[in-house]
Amino acid sequence: MSKRDYYEVLGISKSASQEEIKKAYRKQAIQYHPDKNPGNTEAETKFKEAAEAYEVLSNADKRSRYDRFGHAGVGSAAGGGFGGGMTMEDIFENFGDIFGSAFGGSFGGFSGFGGFGGSRQRGRRVAKGSNLRVKVSLSLKDIANGVNKKIKVNKYIACDTCGGNGTKDSSSYSNCSTCHGSGQVTKVASTFLGQMQTTSTCHACGGEGKVITSKCTKCHGEGIVKDSEVISLDIPAGVAEGMQLSVSGKGNAARRGGVNGDLIVLIHEDKHPDLIRDGNDLIYGLYLNFAEATLGAPVEIPTVDGKVKIKIEPGTQPGKILRLRGKGIPEVNGYGKGDLLVNINVWVPKTLSKEEKKTIEQLADSENFVPKPSPEDKNFFERMKNFFE
Ligand SMILES: [Zn+2]
Ligand SMILES: [Zn+2]
Repeated sequence: MSKRDYYEVLGISKSASQEEIKKAYRKQAIQYHPDKNPGNTEAETKFKEAAEAYEVLSNADKRSRYDRFGHAGVGSAAGGGFGGGMTMEDIFENFGDIFGSAFGGSFGGFSGFGGFGGSRQRGRRVAKGSNLRVKVSLSLKDIANGVNKKIKVNKYIACDTCGGNGTKDSSSYSNCSTCHGSGQVTKVASTFLGQMQTTSTCHACGGEGKVITSKCTKCHGEGIVKDSEVISLDIPAGVAEGMQLSVSGKGNAARRGGVNGDLIVLIHEDKHPDLIRDGNDLIYGLYLNFAEATLGAPVEIPTVDGKVKIKIEPGTQPGKILRLRGKGIPEVNGYGKGDLLVNINVWVPKTLSKEEKKTIEQLADSENFVPKPSPEDKNFFERMKNFFE
């Protein structure tokens, strides 16, 4: 969509003075004002177009760039206007005072401009309590099965004496003298365009319209007091080191009846003495002695839920990996479970007695002690790949 020339939009000459630009914009703004043209999208477009033209031409720097480079010079060539686009709210926010007086009294400042004055008419702001962070240490067993933890948290809670509103009793309020209870202040100023009105949140009462005259003695009018709470946390299976769980509404209470903050739970995973976690799989390094590897043997493997017995086949080579399906960690979303990978090593004695040495030497001469690795045994890289898959 190509843009109309800004001077053409406002119906002025290239040499128009600032005064003429303002006058021209004011005329257009009043003519195409949404309150005068309800539901008329063409008028809305013209209203926005005029605002955009005014935004550029009323600024000496932007006007000079526009004169030299056109729409490209003011970053509006793409058609969005003002780079990020200008909403009706922006227009009233920025230029409302230019035409505000034309609708003056009857509209009560910006808040009267149909639906567009919304940003000006914020009611009382709802305070939110701050978030709390706690760290929870979990064993691998807790993580594998999910766990309920009860933790004591020091935090602000609503004052029970005043119910959180900070007052001594129900007659402890008076209307704010600054805004007379409305929560908003309207300023009227005389300008070259006539009277202008702006409405903003009352700073004296923070928009509440009333002030506390006698404060609750326990919380000194804050509505919150320091205390502690024991919080029950249901931690799902499958969480991992560094994960954060957010418990809505369990953080600090807000001053004078706002919304509670959240409790952020940071997960710390305690090291397991035997098992190493790799994603949802667990890895266990099993050491067999020479006889067990050669003759086969029943062995015990630690899991997160106690030991399991497995059978080692005769002639098991070091480097072999046994996969115990489903003995790992569940997916945190509840689907599937990792495995327990048993990485087999064979312990080679580092010291031997004279007799042992003699026996080994005798055995070493046997034909069966000559290494005969299968291609599978030799394929170290393949095995490592399987291990880390
Ligand atoms: Zn209190
Ligand atoms: Zn006030």
